[in-house]
Amino acid sequence: MIEGTFLGTASAFPTALRNHPSIYLSIDGTHLLLDCGEGTQRQIRKAGLSPSVDYIFITHWHGDHSLGIGGIIQSLNMMSRKDPVFVFGPAGTNARLDHLMKTYQFHSAIKVVPKPLNAPTEKLVITIGDYEVYAVNVKHAVQCIGYRIRGRDTLNLREDMLKKYGIKPNPLLKRLKEGKDVTINGKKLSYKKFTYVKRGKSLAYLTDLSYSDKVYRFARDVDVLIIEATFSSSMTEKAGSYLHLTVEQSLKIAKKANAKKVYLVHTSQRYDNEDTLRKDAEAAKAKLGLDAEVIFPNDLDKLEI
Ligand SMILES: [Zn+2]
Repeated sequence: MIEGTFLGTASAFPTALRNHPSIYLSIDGTHLLLDCGEGTQRQIRKAGLSPSVDYIFITHWHGDHSLGIGGIIQSLNMMSRKDPVFVFGPAGTNARLDHLMKTYQFHSAIKVVPKPLNAPTEKLVITIGDYEVYAVNVKHAVQCIGYRIRGRDTLNLREDMLKKYGIKPNPLLKRLKEGKDVTINGKKLSYKKFTYVKRGKSLAYLTDLSYSDKVYRFARDVDVLIIEATFSSSMTEKAGSYLHLTVEQSLKIAKKANAKKVYLVHTSQRYDNEDTLRKDAEAAKAKLGLDAEVIFPNDLDKLEI
């Protein structure tokens, strides 16, 4: 299961209510951040989450998405963190982290491991427990990465078939879930016949990108799509010139991707009145024929997949 908290839902300028972008995810006891804007570590404290972060995935090195990394490293250092912290990000992430580590005088030598990425087509970058993390380049003013986290598919027992063939509970049955055939009371059971594939849950995070007809492919069939909606739907031209998305463009990507639930984040500071964007999203949903639930999360809101 993935448990998440929106630590920051603002865009370039934080507001009184919205922090710079960051999403905290816990996956089977491993903690990771998607982006790490200024003030992320304080948001972690406010949310009552463990500050012991194992992975940081940076979309790009604009300050609003990365100014908080120094703070996280400072705190982990003071906690005498022994395990390394892995920082994924665009090409050049190694040099940038090197500068950062040289700029500040940290007390001890925490191990920060840079993982620079370039993914013209989507690629698997790491496996965390039963989940795989994929990356792809998206189009922005600087190199920017989209991330997708997907649980592995698993085999589950077909209770209807077990009943039909009168097979009683047996410890051997768990081997069917491992993709192995078993023999019980002289009867051979094929895993193909007695199991079904349960699809792994998935989440995609796409922020700071301009609209493209292809980007939806990366988020195809996700359970949760977290996507930027920096501007209202009437500001297509402005959004295009800043290489950002409008509410309607984000929902169009969600519709084409067949996302089940959509969280719109990275909203411009000009929309302090959330009703404007909500009404905008309702109109865009109707226009696009989008059935998915659409949410504008507030800072510290939770999500669960
Ligand atoms: Zn941004």
